[in-house]
Parts: sequence; structure tokens; C-alpha cells
Amino acid sequence: MSANELFDPARLKKYNINGPRYTSYPTALTFSGLSEPAPLEKALSVTQASGVSLYVHIPFCHSLCYYCGCNKIVTRHQEKADRYLDYLEKEIQRRAPAFRHRKAEQIHLGGGTPGFLTEQQQTRLAGMLKSAFDVVSDAEMSIEIDPRRTTPAYLRHLASLGYNRLSIGVQDTDYRVQEAINRVQSTSHIATLVDCARSAGFKSVNLDLIYGLPHQTADTFASTLAAVKAMAPERISLFSYAHLPERFAAQRKIKDEWLPSAQVKTGLMKQAITSLTQAGYEMIGMDHFALPSDELAEAQRNKKLHRNFQGYTTRGDLDLLGLGVSSISAAGNAYLQNPKTLNDYYGKLDNNEEVAEKGVFLSPSDLLRRYVIQQLMCNLAVDFAATEALFGIQFRQHFEPELAALKEFKEDGLLQVTGTGIEVFPSARLFIRIICMTFDAYLKGSASIQHRYSRVI
Ligand code: SF4
Repeated sequence: MSANELFDPARLKKYNINGPRYTSYPTALTFSGLSEPAPLEKALSVTQASGVSLYVHIPFCHSLCYYCGCNKIVTRHQEKADRYLDYLEKEIQRRAPAFRHRKAEQIHLGGGTPGFLTEQQQTRLAGMLKSAFDVVSDAEMSIEIDPRRTTPAYLRHLASLGYNRLSIGVQDTDYRVQEAINRVQSTSHIATLVDCARSAGFKSVNLDLIYGLPHQTADTFASTLAAVKAMAPERISLFSYAHLPERFAAQRKIKDEWLPSAQVKTGLMKQAITSLTQAGYEMIGMDHFALPSDELAEAQRNKKLHRNFQGYTTRGDLDLLGLGVSSISAAGNAYLQNPKTLNDYYGKLDNNEEVAEKGVFLSPSDLLRRYVIQQLMCNLAVDFAATEALFGIQFRQHFEPELAALKEFKEDGLLQVTGTGIEVFPSARLFIRIICMTFDAYLKGSASIQHRYSRVI
């Protein structure tokens, strides 16, 4: 499949529209207040997961990147992290008994900037997790880092704590672009960190890139892509910058006229896909790339890919426990989200209240639709017989209106419906979110999709 097939102009014109990214179904926008006194325990009572994946949110950052839409707190006060760890410890103590008989197979630190924590604070956090949960000895432990604040010694310390996967926010290597987004960082330092991660024992390095940033051109992005390829990371994530200054105050620092036009932005994505696939990377889902030997690429080839709040994963058999402010858990038949502000998060722990503030318990219909959407998002296919065996339905009868609604996609050459299932053509993978929307019961009659979700490109 060539980039030209992916970027067919007529399809782009028709299908480059706004839609959910389906890191969950139903999406987080449907979460509401919880009435259950112990929602996590209730959700876990019906779980079929074999183990648990722990996600810890570290909300602090040293400085503000102007493109950022994350939930973060910009501060220079390192001691705020000590207080935060005190509260995380309370939450861990409270949550861990529910997982007493299950192994923790993954730990992921996200943010914010997880590297905001000092070496000592990292040691404390790893100790808290390992003493409260039954963490397997070969657990996948990953962390996102900001290269501006990370030294080789810090990486070696993380490796000594068991971290074995690293994700580095590169975004763009061009100085003018970096200045406009308030994130000036040295490319040679990033390359040093990648080398150091390998010699310290990290098994996998991911580099994040963003296209659509101010002042990006085909030439500047070619340099960024060349620099990234030279570092030969196992994985690359390619995100689209969504300029929503009315929603994210920091983005008001980025002037509209600095941004590449829609046409240039599409060209940047096409350039990245061409460049990375020619360099031997396989495209995973809509926006990730992995070397063929990486387990994500292997999972995609074997139709075993899954998706959660961290993106694509090989482990769909784990419940996800989110710890820390704004974290989301995906456990059993529920999604549960912690408060988004530190005050509310601390207050709930001080008052011994249930930490999760909102969420949703999935109905049997939600579980079925989640499965269908996950299959499409991850494997570009749905098998009728497998779905029928899992959910006790007659697929064609149950989804008669949805199958009829796929007709337009069929006519436009995006997919086919065979006697055994739905197959989306690889050349239509950029529009997979739009195809999934056919099975989203919450979007029916919703007039606000344009304002609530990002565009495909
Ligand atoms: S992009 Fe990352 S480091 Fe920058 S402000 Fe946002 S969360 Fe912090």
C-alpha cells in the first residue's frame, strides 16, 4: 500500500472530518457521576482479565509547551511532588487489596512529565507500587520523558528501578518550530539519551512526533524525520496538532498565521508515512509506526492488537488501574475517572471518600459495540462468527441498520462486507475512526461532533 493510495484526494475531501479516537467506548465524554459506594470492586466482580496494568499520572511540568492540551500543572516547586506522592500512596493502599490475587504485568508512568520526579522520588514511587502490588519480575515498565530535564544518569537510575521502555517527546527538531511552541531542546542530546537507554538495558524506545506545528514545512519536517530515523527507535508515534485556542489557553500563544495550511499539513503526514515506511517501519493503526520485529507490529500481523488510553497495546487481557489525578481505569465492565484537580483528588483521599469521581458501567450493548469498534480500530476487521460466539447474537440481524449504513463506505472502496465479516482495506486505515462511528450508539442524533472531537488529519 502506497501513501498515494492512503491520501486519495476525493476520499480525503469527503472523510477528513471530526470523530472520536476511540481509546475507549463509550468515550470519556459520556462519563457521569457515580452512585455506587465501591465502583472499582463492583466492576472487578465481573472481570475476565488475567492481570492488571498500572497507570500512574504525574501531573507536574517544569515549563509550558504552547501546543499542549494535557492535564498538567506547571511549577518549579519540586516539593509539590512529595505531597503528591503522599496522596498517591494513600490511593495505592486503598486500591491494591482489590487486586490481591492478580499479577501486575505492566506499569506505565505518564503525565504531565513523569521525569519531574527526582531520582529519590522515583525510587519511592517504584517502591510503593512494588510493595502494594504483586508485580511480576519481567513486568513491562514504561515511562514518558522530557529530554530537556533528563540526563544519562537519570535514565540509568530508572533502569535500575526496572523501567525497560522509554518514550521521548521529540515533536520537531527545527529550532524555529521549537521556539514557537516554547520547547527548545537539543537533537544531539536526544540521540545521546537514546544510546544511553540502550546501554542501560531499555528494551524499546519510542519517539513522539507532531505534525501541523507552527512554521513546519516539508523541508523542516524532512530534517526532523531524518534525525529521528537516524536514532532508529523501535517505535514512532505521529500525532496531529489540533489547534483549539478557545479550549486550551496555552495555544493562544500560537498565532493562526504561523500554522501550516490544511493542504501543507496533509502533505506533512503523507511525507512522514512515506519516509518511515520506506525506512522499514510498519504503520500501526492510524498514527503509530514500529519496526517489523517489534511486538506491536507482530500483534498487528496476527490480528492481536488492542487499544486503551495509552494508545495501541499488545495486552488486551489486562484490566487497567489508573492512579493519580485525572487518571482513568478500565476495569471489568466499567471506566472510572479520578478528579481532574489536585484539590478535589486530595480532598477525596483526606475524607476517605471513593476516589473515582465519574465514569460509566457498560451495558451488554456497550460491551458488544466496544468489541466491534476495537476490532475495527486495531485489526481493520470484524469476524461475524467470533462476535456471535462471544455475545450470543446473530450479527447480520443485530446490526442490520449499521451494515446498511456501511453501503456508502463500500461504494467508495473503503471496505467490503463478506459472508464472514467486515474487512476494511489497508488504504482506508486513516478513516477507520469515521467507519467506527457507524457502530457508536452515543453519536446517533448528536449534532456536536464537530466541536467535541478532532479531525482525522
Ligand atoms: S507537552 Fe508534556 S511537557 Fe509540555 S506542557 Fe504538556 S504535558 Fe508538560
